[in-house]
Amino acid sequence: MNTKLQDQTYVANTYARFDVALKEGKGSVIKDENGEEYIDMGSGIAVNLFGYCDEVWQKAVTEQLSSLQHSSNLYYTGPCAELAQVLCEKSGMKKVFYCNSGAEANECAIKAARKYAQEKKGSDYYTIITLRNSFHGRTLTTLAATGQDHFHELFQPLTPGFVHASTLEEIKEIVSSQKIAGIMIECVQGEGGVNVQSQEFVKGIYDLCQKEDLIMIVDEVQTGNGRTGKLYSYMHYGIMPDVVTTAKGLGGGLPIGCTMLGEKVKDIFKPGDNGSTFGGNPVVCAGALSNINRLDDAFLAEVSRKSDLIFSTLKDAEGVKSISGLGLMIGIEPEKITAKEAAVKCLEKHVLVLTAGGNKVRLLPALNIDDELLLKALDVLKEVLGGE
Ligand SMILES: *Cc1c(COP(=O)(O)O)cnc(C)c1O
Repeated sequence: MNTKLQDQTYVANTYARFDVALKEGKGSVIKDENGEEYIDMGSGIAVNLFGYCDEVWQKAVTEQLSSLQHSSNLYYTGPCAELAQVLCEKSGMKKVFYCNSGAEANECAIKAARKYAQEKKGSDYYTIITLRNSFHGRTLTTLAATGQDHFHELFQPLTPGFVHASTLEEIKEIVSSQKIAGIMIECVQGEGGVNVQSQEFVKGIYDLCQKEDLIMIVDEVQTGNGRTGKLYSYMHYGIMPDVVTTAKGLGGGLPIGCTMLGEKVKDIFKPGDNGSTFGGNPVVCAGALSNINRLDDAFLAEVSRKSDLIFSTLKDAEGVKSISGLGLMIGIEPEKITAKEAAVKCLEKHVLVLTAGGNKVRLLPALNIDDELLLKALDVLKEVLGGE
């Protein structure tokens, strides 16, 4: 049986996969099972920060793999502690909780906000405000947090305690009329359409959280770890959130989630309040530590330069209705075809791109993609969007 048929027969039908079976890759080039090569502009949805089989990351992971692969959280291990220190020093957060995915990292953030508010203000302060068009995960609680109704159908009842809003006025109205624990946002909405929030909006939410003693959670599962040209996207806004969650790119291809706790909530959890069997796994943490240590200012400046290159290349291209994004997280709205059609046509021309809500083609290339491959992929995208 070939891979496609075997998968369709035995893997639950939760993904609308593209018609290609991938086998091996190097950098930003990936080969399928027939040996055909593709330029990858999606990096496994912002996961493979340094592309496929990056040697530095591979070395960090395999060295750890040959000494200790897992210990459980009953014991201390070096990579877990060292990564935590580096993340805190670079982000300004104070403590971290490790898990295995973005959804779990958000679950922990929600627990932190609820515990803080309930201890401080009372047991009916549990509601979190999130934004329309947000995406926070697939568990029943993070689905409730996700402000897109089409994800909710037929999975009711979801976890109570979430309200969705779009504008700062709406948020202020909710805060003044309901018992609120915190506000959770993405500074750049990924899944929801690569929507970059304005300075006024993010700063307004931050000021409101300060004034009302609400926990501000920034979901950096997609935007984090250099993706937007800063280590974390909140750094574009001159704010310091109370909780920052991240996952995807942090592990560079191995599963990790991380909830970073700021000054206000750094000691909110006591033993037993949260946990994860695999959280802080030494192999994953060793790879993540290597990744984070490479995201210095010079590297991040390159991310921003490549972002400018994408914007300038596509800005006046035929068939491009709009472009949005920050760093190497870019959304392109096609004029002549749907985003899905564009993605399928790009695949036929051996370029892998993603899509997002609001009919966007979404680009999330490896952060170290070189200009030559990037421009080659953009040429193909231009052809496709232009109707060739
Ligand atoms: C992908 C994503 C999640 C969910 O992460 P998983 O690892 O799939 O659970 C949550 N929030 C945002 C912003 C994401 O992009």
